[in-house]
Amino acid sequence: MKIGAPNEVFPGEDRVAMTPASAKDLQKLGYECLIESGAGQSAGFSDATYTEAGVAVVKSAKDLWAAADIVAKVRPPSTDETKLMRADQTLISFFYPAQNKELMDAANAQGSTVIAMDMVPRISRAQKMDALSSMANIAGYRAVIEAGNNFGRFFTGQVTAAGKVPPAKVLVVGAGVAGLAAIGTATSLGAITYAFDVRPEVAEQVESMGAEFVFLDFEEEQTDGAATGGYAAVSSPEFAAAQLAKFREIAPDIDIVITTALIPGRDAPELWTKDMVDSMKPGSVIVDLAAERGGNCKLTVMDEKVVTDNGVTIIGYTDFPSRMAAQSSTLYATNIRHMMTDLTPEKDGVPNHNMEDDVIRGATATHKGEITFPPPPPKVA
Ligand code: NAD
Repeated sequence: MKIGAPNEVFPGEDRVAMTPASAKDLQKLGYECLIESGAGQSAGFSDATYTEAGVAVVKSAKDLWAAADIVAKVRPPSTDETKLMRADQTLISFFYPAQNKELMDAANAQGSTVIAMDMVPRISRAQKMDALSSMANIAGYRAVIEAGNNFGRFFTGQVTAAGKVPPAKVLVVGAGVAGLAAIGTATSLGAITYAFDVRPEVAEQVESMGAEFVFLDFEEEQTDGAATGGYAAVSSPEFAAAQLAKFREIAPDIDIVITTALIPGRDAPELWTKDMVDSMKPGSVIVDLAAERGGNCKLTVMDEKVVTDNGVTIIGYTDFPSRMAAQSSTLYATNIRHMMTDLTPEKDGVPNHNMEDDVIRGATATHKGEITFPPPPPKVA
């Protein structure tokens, strides 16, 4: 069968779901590979590199959707793309079925099977397909690079003939996948790094990466915002107040804040208030990785960089992985290739959509004319 990747149509999206390297692996699984002409260009993969990897270059999106049995994409399909979907076709992409009911209905009306990469269960066996994590890792890294690019000083402290330079102080709020990547990047650049999370079990990971965990002056055990499965729950008003009090106390001393705090299915909690921004030094930088969900910082503007009257830069970009399209396409295409490996146990170029498999079942949003979202919880951890 044929698997193809079209050019991403979302404005400013530079990633591509198939690279020449992933295409070679897909061919080993028995698939013929197709790419829309120019689809890899912004990620650094020319048509010629695909041709060399045995991929057929197709001239238009329409031709690609018509020829492919499986379409691999990064972003959820647009309305126009949904119209190109067919009953005998499988789409693999980010899809966010819980937030995209209309899109799921439209895809289902076409009779197509949809595998949502954002729905891959977060169990050990599926880590190689966990595109949310591979992209969050890039976002965390890039957030620190973006902060550095907007910060007028070194991260590391230096004693030079021209004077003594203090190290930058970085605070990372939320130590999930993106937060831990941000911590690793900030410490490796030499910053003094602090981190906070409502899940106290991450303190050890934070410290093992060279950062200091910020403990609250809170009478109860610091487990208030921790829910099951490694995710956070909404904090109690008392805990939230203690958290804000601590942030308020340290804000004037922090040069760079990277916020990544999210709670599944909710708007991002507001953790960095206007008075905290007001109390920061001129030249400080905030990068809000929660901007798409409303932002952790009160003054974040989604997809924009703003500079406040007191000289604090607040970055609310939502396209960090696309800003590193070569790296993110390589990792995402590998996540897709692993999904295809699990879908093709016989390596015969024909997917076996096994709904008894926890990972395949978990990620399937529509199948054979039925909406299969939400899936049952996975049986194995
Ligand atoms: P996420 O993007 O949902 O949230 C980011 C972080 O924000 C989380 O660590 C969360 O605890 C934190 N947070 C929420 N509210 C906060 C607040 N008020 N103040 C400070 N921090 C707050 O998280 P994620 O990166 O998707 O990771 C979630 C969990 O899933 C983690 O435990 C991670 O280790 C786990 N995980 C497991 C696997 C696996 O395969 N086993 C893969 C990826 C992630």
